[in-house]
Amino acid sequence: MTSQTKTFIEMEDIIGIQIECKKCHASLLISGDTMRSLTDAHNDALYRCPSCQSDWTAPLGTTMAGYDDEVKKFMRTLEKVRNINERLGCQIRFELKSESSSARASDSKV
Ligand SMILES: [Zn+2]
Repeated sequence: MTSQTKTFIEMEDIIGIQIECKKCHASLLISGDTMRSLTDAHNDALYRCPSCQSDWTAPLGTTMAGYDDEVKKFMRTLEKVRNINERLGCQIRFELKSESSSARASDSKV
């Protein structure tokens, strides 16, 4: 018999989002107030990497709204669900890739 350990993360475990540039690996850590201002429809901070200026959510030559809207929507939804989480009658968890299939050894908190 084989056993498998599944790893889940709960909404309350999520205290922020890290956004890392795929090109230069500069990263932004977003939480709380930063999340609220960054997800404002008129905020263009996520259009481009603040470090190397490569495109993040707004690739050149496409409609500016496209990806940026989706990313902001996702971040806003995550915030919203986190806020109502305590009042929900169910627990929402994200399942994480198992240790063996993931190269990330840095997350020891699970
Ligand atoms: Zn960059």
